[in-house]
Amino acid sequence: MSSKTFTLSDDLHAYLLSVSVREADVLEKLRAATIALPNARMQISVEQGQFLQLLIELIGAKRTLEVGTFTGYSALCVALALPANGRIVACDVSEEFTNVARPFWNEAGVANKIDLRIAPATETLAVLLENEADTFDFAFIDADKPNYDAYYEHALQLVRPGGLIAIDNTLWSGRVADSSETDEDTLALRALNAKLHADERVTLSLVPIGDGLTLARRRA
Ligand code: CA
Repeated sequence: MSSKTFTLSDDLHAYLLSVSVREADVLEKLRAATIALPNARMQISVEQGQFLQLLIELIGAKRTLEVGTFTGYSALCVALALPANGRIVACDVSEEFTNVARPFWNEAGVANKIDLRIAPATETLAVLLENEADTFDFAFIDADKPNYDAYYEHALQLVRPGGLIAIDNTLWSGRVADSSETDEDTLALRALNAKLHADERVTLSLVPIGDGLTLARRRA
């Protein structure tokens, strides 16, 4: 008999948080500042942020990449987990949202680790590929879904062999498994999930944390 991942009840999710989450005060303040915004649901969950921090520690990441920064919660999580000489190149198109992040990055004392690039991410990634291919340890993708495949292909060239790519929202509130859902975002995620399943370039796991977080490690 196989065991499968089960849906967490609200009580069990609250328990999970109560015995695992150790959110820094500055992260909690940034989350509070984001909740008031209309797109607040774009922020990763607290337990996802902590999971990213664990991944950064596990692989000893120094050079990291983020596609989709929003108000900076995930970038702050990663920056806090990086060593003093660590760096995160953070890509986003919104000055408005990333401006929310800056005071908290400063307060946390990690602003110097965060290299924010305001431009369409495919442009920033193309620039990075000119000189920095195979140099990143970690990449986090959490932006517009129709471009996920392009972000993944760029990230796969930017991370070193053995480097890790984390892709958010790959369970998409369950819509990826409902064939009646045919909107552009769902189709893009469903296609990428199928592609990743067959992609021999990476070692793969889709972790059901938050809205689904796919981990893809570039093979040598
Ligand atoms: Ca997300």
